[in-house]
Parts: sequence; C-alpha cells; structure tokens
Amino acid sequence: RTVYLNGSWLAEADAKVSIFDRGFLFADAIYEVTGVVGGKLLEYAGHAARLQRSMAELGIACPLTQDELLAVHREIVRRNDLQEGLIYLQISRGAADRDFAFPTNAAPTLVLFTQAKAVLDNPKVKTGISVALVADQRWARRDIKTVQLLYPSMAKMQAASVGADDAWLVEDGFVTEASSATAHIISQDGTLITRGLSSAILHGITRLSVLDIARKAGLAVEERAFTPEEARDAAEAFITSATSFVLPVTQIDGQPVGDGKPGPRTLKLRQLYIENKLANAI
Ligand code: PLP
Repeated sequence: RTVYLNGSWLAEADAKVSIFDRGFLFADAIYEVTGVVGGKLLEYAGHAARLQRSMAELGIACPLTQDELLAVHREIVRRNDLQEGLIYLQISRGAADRDFAFPTNAAPTLVLFTQAKAVLDNPKVKTGISVALVADQRWARRDIKTVQLLYPSMAKMQAASVGADDAWLVEDGFVTEASSATAHIISQDGTLITRGLSSAILHGITRLSVLDIARKAGLAVEERAFTPEEARDAAEAFITSATSFVLPVTQIDGQPVGDGKPGPRTLKLRQLYIENKLANAI
C-alpha cells in the first residue's frame, strides 16, 4: 500500500514516525475514518467538519487547507486503486521532548492510509450482531475523536470473551454507545431512540444522516438516553458507523432483541442510507 505522511507518498514500510511523537507517548492525536465505495468518498463533508472540530478542541492546527485535505483523500484512493473500504486519517500534535505541557513549536504529524474491505456486502446484515453490556470507563470527552482507544479495545475484548461481537457501553444506568459505533433502538411502538449529543458520546456522522433519513421516512425519533432494560425490551436494535452503515443488533447480553432476527425497519434504514450515500458520494 501507498501511505501519506506529512506531504510524502511512501510505501508503508518506509513511513516512519518519531518515537517522541505525542500521538505515541500521550495519545495526543485525533483521527477520522471515511468510508469508500466505488472509489468514492462517503459523507466526506461530515468527516472533514468533525476533524476540524476535534482539532479545534485540542488546539492542533491542520497542516493542510480544506482543499488540500480533500485532494489527499482522493489521491490516496487513486494510488491504492481503492474500490471499497476506508481511509484512516490521523493528526497528532507532533514530536517534542516528553513533557505533559503541550509544546509550542511542534509540527503536527499527518498520516493517511487505506484499508480495502467489503463494506456493502457485510455477512452480519443477515444475522445481526450480538452485544455484551460493559461498563463505560472511558474519559469524559468522547465527543473528541482521539486515538485514546485502549478502553474501547478492552471492552471489545471483554465482549469477545463472552462470545459477543461487540460491547454496548453503560454509564450511570444508560447505554452510551458501542465500542466504535453509535447505539440505537426502535421501541415496540416504532420510535427510533438514540442518545442525544453531549460529551458522553462521539457525534456520529452516520447517526446524523440516519436520523434525517428516518424522519423523512416517517419514523418518530427521540434523542434521549435509554437503559439496557429498554434495549432488551425493544422491537429492534442497531448500530451505525462509517463502515458498518446501519447494522442490526439481534442479541443483548445473550437475550434476543424482538424475535432475534434483524428488524425490518433497521434493514429498511440500511437500504435507504446506502442509496442516499452512494448517490451523494464524491
Ligand atoms: N462512536 C464511537 C465511539 C466511534 O468510534 C464511532 C466511529 O466509528 C462512532 C460512534 C460512529 O461514528 P461515525 O458514524 O461518524 O463513524
């Protein structure tokens, strides 16, 4: 694969970053994941906007203009002949002598690479995924997309240890989100319930589009926190993210959701979401 590192296009084995990079030493870095289908970028505007927001929250300056950033996204797809999969982008504050205080003169480290992956044809769409409830012990600024991913990683391993595909994180008696996706349920009366935006969750780009699509399709939407009990009693459940789109959740802590099969409204939302995003891919 060809990767991008600070203005250079390199073979992945030749891309090297300093051991003093604050991304490595302090997780002082943010990232974005943009889906690619048919060689085109999905939801690019949303991901670019969230990237700017994350950088502003941490006071990291982007080394590229908006136009240059888009050009690099397009170029990495072209160089790797990426048809379907994702682009991973990371910006750290840069390398500096180790100190908790931010350096004033570090140059940010910008990295992009691609991963080829069949995102449209996901076998889990037919079966749904199982999730295990795990305590949410992440830091309290989950609205910033930092590379501080150790706890979500541990939560996913904890879920795997009980045979589940993913974790749904729980804090103060309410579901926050999945380890790397937004959590949603559809109640028995057909209302889509998803947690409102706050620093407790990442502001999912897919979440925003799916809520819009759901409202336009005539589904009632409530943006509020829900409990694990409410989720277990729901008619349907699903997750959303840049690469899973809309994916049914059919089991929570070993209990089936609804009849234990992917829900019809969930599958409809997946179809509408994919149609809409493919039509607007750039
Ligand atoms: N929540 C978390 C913790 C995530 O890591 C992600 C990223 O995939 C999401 C939600 C979903 O965000 P998006 O739809 O922008 O991919």
